[in-house]
Amino acid sequence: MIANVTGMKCNACGTVSYPKHMVCPKCRGERFTDVVIEGEGTVLTYTDVYALAIEYETRYLRLAIVELDGGVRVTGQLLADKPKLGMRVRTILGIVRQGGEGAIQGLQFVAV
Ligand SMILES: [Zn+2]
Repeated sequence: MIANVTGMKCNACGTVSYPKHMVCPKCRGERFTDVVIEGEGTVLTYTDVYALAIEYETRYLRLAIVELDGGVRVTGQLLADKPKLGMRVRTILGIVRQGGEGAIQGLQFVAV
């Protein structure tokens, strides 16, 4: 189990990414420093994904892109029954799926 959600900060241009990528999406840099993804932010957009792998226990996954107050945009699971664009959320660390290797933890958002 992990204690918090980490993204990566590009050593070259400072862009923070979550989920992590192989290369920086902005400058294609390949050297990074881990940064903790946490705090409050605003939902920019969300979507319900129905085509899930069999190991998911939910029928669909509600994913949101949230802009954190520091300006970093991250993608995670939105835990809200009635989501709205622009709603305020905060980040939590939760179980996003149960896989063959056990529970997979990831970034989730809950309404503030
Ligand atoms: Zn970069």
